[in-house]
Amino acid sequence: MNNEELKALVRTIPDYPKPGIMFRDVTTLISHGDGFRATINNMAEPFFERGINAVVGIEARGFILGGAIADKLGVGFVPVRKKGKLPFETISQTYELEYGTDELEIHKDAIDAGEKILIVDDLIATGGTLEAASKLVKELGGDILGAAFIVDLPDIGGSQKCEQLGIPCHALMAFEGD
Ligand code: AMP
Repeated sequence: MNNEELKALVRTIPDYPKPGIMFRDVTTLISHGDGFRATINNMAEPFFERGINAVVGIEARGFILGGAIADKLGVGFVPVRKKGKLPFETISQTYELEYGTDELEIHKDAIDAGEKILIVDDLIATGGTLEAASKLVKELGGDILGAAFIVDLPDIGGSQKCEQLGIPCHALMAFEGD
């Protein structure tokens, strides 16, 4: 399936979780067998033969995608989780969402210095989540080769911020407006 066909499988829910937000619901895409397989393949494809050592996925939808992409690339998976969920010693970063603030953590021994990292999430809006995750990876000495998303909301500016942080941003599709 091409990315246009994948875009047709994303459901839009207006005013969720609060008025004014157009929620791009990827559950309808990932529950579709061919759609999920193509999503994983198309997200992983720019990173074949790049020497990626680990995929970092952001809770929670980044886990579904990141685990499958890590398998596809033949590397391990590292979770970045919401505060208080990881059992071992962590480092943390606070960040702003399109709707609210939160804190992300990573195990302090999850990445070795110099490892080549791909960050994965379902969607980039403001880029706040990506920025926080990238700070965690960099603090551990990881070398971020790129970030992969299903959806970019270019008018909100996150993908531009991602590039400004020096992280190549790959998304399968964009939705105009917010
Ligand atoms: P941001 O930090 O603003 O780039 O927001 C990205 C995170 O928030 C991702 O993990 C998304 O799952 C979620 N998110 C933000 N805005 C939306 C939206 N309009 N539709 C679906 N998910 C969103």
